[in-house]
Amino acid sequence: MFPFSCTKVSTVREALAAGQRGGRFIAGGTTLVDLMRETVERPGALVDISALPMRDVRVTDGGGVRIGALVRMADAAVNRTVRAAYPVIAEALELSASAQLRNMATIGGNIMQRTRCTYFRDVSAPCNKRRPGSGCAALGGYNRTHAILGGSEHCVATHPSDLAVALTALEATVHLAGPAGERRVAFADFLLRPGNTPDREQALRPGELITFVEVPGLPRTSRSGYLKVRDRQSYEFALVSAAVALDIRGGVIRTARVAAGGVGTVPWKLSAVEQHLVGNRPSAKLWAEAAERAADGAQPLEHNGFKVDLLKHTVERQLRVVGGNK
Ligand code: SF4
Repeated sequence: MFPFSCTKVSTVREALAAGQRGGRFIAGGTTLVDLMRETVERPGALVDISALPMRDVRVTDGGGVRIGALVRMADAAVNRTVRAAYPVIAEALELSASAQLRNMATIGGNIMQRTRCTYFRDVSAPCNKRRPGSGCAALGGYNRTHAILGGSEHCVATHPSDLAVALTALEATVHLAGPAGERRVAFADFLLRPGNTPDREQALRPGELITFVEVPGLPRTSRSGYLKVRDRQSYEFALVSAAVALDIRGGVIRTARVAAGGVGTVPWKLSAVEQHLVGNRPSAKLWAEAAERAADGAQPLEHNGFKVDLLKHTVERQLRVVGGNK
C-alpha cells in the first residue's frame, strides 16, 4: 500500500471544499479500496462522504423517484416504491455482486465503478484507461468479455454496472453538486464512451459529487424487468444483459424502454428496438423482429463474436418475459 490521508466530512459544503483540494470521494469503498490495494489507483487524499444526508428514497412531484447517492444497493433493492414501480431497478440490483457487497456499496458508487477489464487491473499490462498513451492490451489480447458496441481504437472495455443499464433504459437523470453549484445530467450523457480519452469515464467536472439519481415516472400500466446472462449464476458480471420496460394498453405497446449491458463501452440504449415496438401489438414475431435490431452497428472483436447472437436472444427473451409470451 502507499500513504494517503482520509478526512471524514459531515456536510456537502465540507465535501466540496475537500474535493476542490484534490480529495477523492469514498463511501462504501467496495470499488476504490480494491483498486488502491492493486495500486491501479493511488489517491493521495480520500474524503469519506458516508455521513452526508443522501440516504433517502423519495417520490418526486412528477411521480418518479429520486434515490440518494448514499443509499445502499441492498436498501434500494427492497425499497417499496422501487419494487412497485421499477422492478427492473430492483432486479438489476439484486443480480449485482454479492449480498455482502450490496450491503456496503452505494448507488453513487455503483454507477461510478470502473471496468472489470482484466488488463486494466493488471498494472504490468498496457492500458490507455489506466495509463493514457500506453496502448490497449485487450485489442490484441483475450477480449471475450469486451465490448462489441461503442469501442474505439483506444479502449473496448465494458461498463460493469447492472443498475446503470436499468437507469439508461428508464432515461434517468444524475444530479450533481459542485463548486459552481448544482446541475443535472441525463444518464445517457453521464457515462462517456472511450473515444480518444478512455481515462475520462464520466461527465463530471472537477470536484463534483453525485447527490441523487432521479428516475422519471412510468405509467401505472407499465411492466419491467432485468435479465442478466453470465458465466455462472452468482457474483459474476454480465456477458449480456437486457433491461426492458413496456407500457401496453388496449393491446398496443404505447412506450418501450430497452437497454443492454455487457456489450457496450457504456450501457447501450436500444433505440432501434424501441422504435420497432411502439405502436404495435405484442406477438412472438414482433419480439423476434425487434430483437433482431439489438446488435445494429456491432463490431465484434476476435473472441467475442458470440455476443451478437447472445444479445439478440437475451433481448427477445426479456421482451417475452415483460411483454407476454404471445
Ligand atoms: Fe485498458 Fe480499455 Fe484496453 Fe482494457 S480495453 S486494456 S481498460 S484500454
